[in-house]
Amino acid sequence: MPAAELTKSQELIDIEERYGAHNYKPLDVVIERGEGVWVYDVEGKKYLDCLASYSAVNQGHCHPRILQTLIEQAHRVTLTSRAFRNDQLPLLYQDLHDLTGYDMALPMNSGAEAVETAVKAARKWGYTVKGIPDGQAEIIVCANNFHGRTTTIVGFSTDEQYRRGFGPFTPGFKVIPFGDAAALDKAITPNTCAFLVEPIQGEAGILIPPDGYLREAARICRANRVLLMCDEIQSGLGRTGKLFACMYEHVTPDVLIVGKALSGGFYPVSAVLASREVLGVFQPGDHGSTFGGNPLACAIARTALRVLAEEKMVQRSAELGAYFLDRLRTLRSPDIVEVRGRGLWIGIELRTPARPYCEALKEQGILCKETHDRVIRLAPPLVITRDEIDWAFVRIRKVIERP
Ligand SMILES: *Cc1c(COP(=O)(O)O)cnc(C)c1O
Repeated sequence: MPAAELTKSQELIDIEERYGAHNYKPLDVVIERGEGVWVYDVEGKKYLDCLASYSAVNQGHCHPRILQTLIEQAHRVTLTSRAFRNDQLPLLYQDLHDLTGYDMALPMNSGAEAVETAVKAARKWGYTVKGIPDGQAEIIVCANNFHGRTTTIVGFSTDEQYRRGFGPFTPGFKVIPFGDAAALDKAITPNTCAFLVEPIQGEAGILIPPDGYLREAARICRANRVLLMCDEIQSGLGRTGKLFACMYEHVTPDVLIVGKALSGGFYPVSAVLASREVLGVFQPGDHGSTFGGNPLACAIARTALRVLAEEKMVQRSAELGAYFLDRLRTLRSPDIVEVRGRGLWIGIELRTPARPYCEALKEQGILCKETHDRVIRLAPPLVITRDEIDWAFVRIRKVIERP
């Protein structure tokens, strides 16, 4: 086809494929605008976003109040670096403390950086507080984990593709099965400083551990003086129908890692929350980030948190998630293995690859992404309405139950 006849989407896709590294395989939809749960492609076609940027836009695309904050703060000052103080960071600290009760926070940008920060905090706590011999600290992690893409983090992934070609890796990590508290108990040694876990494994396919697992893990960690570090970067801030997924088991982890929706998708903001005993191990110069804790990020995060609370998004996630899950459980197809979820975080596990279903859903105006080959993940912004869920359900049924 001559270039002149290419659609605008195809033109942009061609440029992206030619000049960009191919570390993703996106669905071929080129989004130019978003509002709430809806996004629009360059041809003006409208889609219901059922991924919500991996739960970074829980508050909905371009939330007007967060947008207003971004504009106002961008007019004032955006970056001071931590060489100086700024007037927004203390207010974010205060808000995070008031919201979660944690003594202290350490702000970063991406989720992976926050996980790295937690790893460093746990190790230094191990040496300086627990008394682990220098260089011997061990951190226990779970099979099928997803904690980000840095070399240290992929080094303890069990996904071959995440690791292949990227070694050698950071030592000091031990992998146990997810959902198995006895395995945790067995894996702990006097040199164990922390257990790093997702309360629900999102990237692995919305894997929900057995009831009581987290509570038991917390008990085992406490009994052995091991820090329980929960990665709630994706599960947190309302996605599962509670503010944090740990709350389903009344567990308060020693270290809580947040990111993604902390900014409502406007800007990368992440943080590690912990007690003074843990985050107090950092001395000036131990750790840092040029952008971490910048005033633009802090202002955005504060409004993103306020919007979540004032618009009762956590409650919406619980109620509408239960409704969506009930409807999806009525789907009848020999391809379905299981439909599971918590809040507006739902996985449809199939016997066959999920990608063709995601392609077909895209044609119906629903954007979602397969995770781990055979699971369709549905995670719309928490501002979705019952009518929009009904709208989506009709189309999902059409695709899943097609003859
Ligand atoms: C997305 C995610 C990360 C990594 O966050 P980035 O911002 O992509 O670095 C870490 N842990 C979990 C559970 C995530 O979902």
